[in-house]
Amino acid sequence: MLNWEGLLASRAARMKTSEIRELLKLLERPDIISFAGGIPDPALFPAEKVSDAYAKILTGPAATAGLQYSVSEGYRPLREWLVGEMGKIGVPCTVDNILIVSGSQQGLDYLGKIFLSPGDTALVTWPTYLGALQAFNAYEPAYDRLTPMGNRAPESYRVQAEAAAEGGQVKFAYVTADFSNPTGDTLSGPARNQLLDLAEALDIAIIEDAAYQALRYDGESVPPILALDVARHGGDIEKTRTVYSGSFSKTLAPGLRIGYLVAAQPLIRKLVLVKQAADLHSSTLNQMAIAEVVPDIFEAQVARIRETYRQRRDLLLAALSRSMPEGVSWTRPEGGMFVWVTLPEGMDGARLLARSLETEKVAFVPGQAFHADGSGANTLRLSFSCASPAMIEEGMARLGRLIREALADGA
Ligand code: PMP
Repeated sequence: MLNWEGLLASRAARMKTSEIRELLKLLERPDIISFAGGIPDPALFPAEKVSDAYAKILTGPAATAGLQYSVSEGYRPLREWLVGEMGKIGVPCTVDNILIVSGSQQGLDYLGKIFLSPGDTALVTWPTYLGALQAFNAYEPAYDRLTPMGNRAPESYRVQAEAAAEGGQVKFAYVTADFSNPTGDTLSGPARNQLLDLAEALDIAIIEDAAYQALRYDGESVPPILALDVARHGGDIEKTRTVYSGSFSKTLAPGLRIGYLVAAQPLIRKLVLVKQAADLHSSTLNQMAIAEVVPDIFEAQVARIRETYRQRRDLLLAALSRSMPEGVSWTRPEGGMFVWVTLPEGMDGARLLARSLETEKVAFVPGQAFHADGSGANTLRLSFSCASPAMIEEGMARLGRLIREALADGA
């Protein structure tokens, strides 16, 4: 048999199946109440509208265009609509500042590809989005901890010195500013400004992952980092250092695989070349279908999603309060899909999950995999996006019991 491992590039060494992902496959069993997924509720997909849009495109004069190759930058009417949306959140831009990608996950891969040489440093929070670590890992970076509230001068000095010790330079800070995956946390306005200060001191880019930004359930909305960056430069996006990564996955449907990057033109032009080499362009038909439906349904669709998830979040938080033993704490997200639970020091989320599969049959994602340094063993992620009221009530009662039993056993 061919020794495949011996033939693979060094970057492949960082591509590993995580034990957690393998374990999560077991959680699809019907006897398990799962809070492990982090996917949108399919009942909220605008299936009929999307179906009408496809029918209209494929039976009308645009049929040929919809089935044909198209430009790497993305379908222009969709980018034009996005220009309007970005304007609403304080980011004046033009279509030339936008690249359509096949899901924001692809955008993260492209960003890793153009920024990271092996040994360069990416700043990420502990914990951070696992998919971002997977995307960046292929480009063999080192990671350093992003502490946005950190004091600017000593922090930038430390980070720079450590990156040089790794044999590279700091290239970007990656952050989900709103309702992050996995914690549900949102960066405050001052924290966003401090992050911009740090990025300016280090002269690096910021990647702002806005996958959940539209899903706010309460509290004051905070301007995107890119909007604050633009405001620092007299409204000129060309002078900014922030790349905004947006997605239709949480608002319309993830199966469409359409996301977008918004940034200064020199970076977008370079990313267009990356896209040409990678897949030429994102699905023409899906971009056209989205451009067809968004003017009519986007606002109402987002309002419906917010209403549904807000109720689920509230139910989950209330059930946690009722069911969790002393010593367990959790986040209170203002939006998104996740609540992050911290167990008493010394408890292990992965061991707890293994135990749960035998006894209580409630599922969650152990938090360690979200930490670039392997810390966070006593944390776990709960997703409420697909949970019914009955599931939430019963699931949290089981989780509380599971944790109590594990605590009693000294596990
Ligand atoms: N960023 C974050 C924070 C996410 O949680 C996800 C999906 N789980 C993505 C990016 C990727 O989403 P998509 O490729 O569907 O746009």
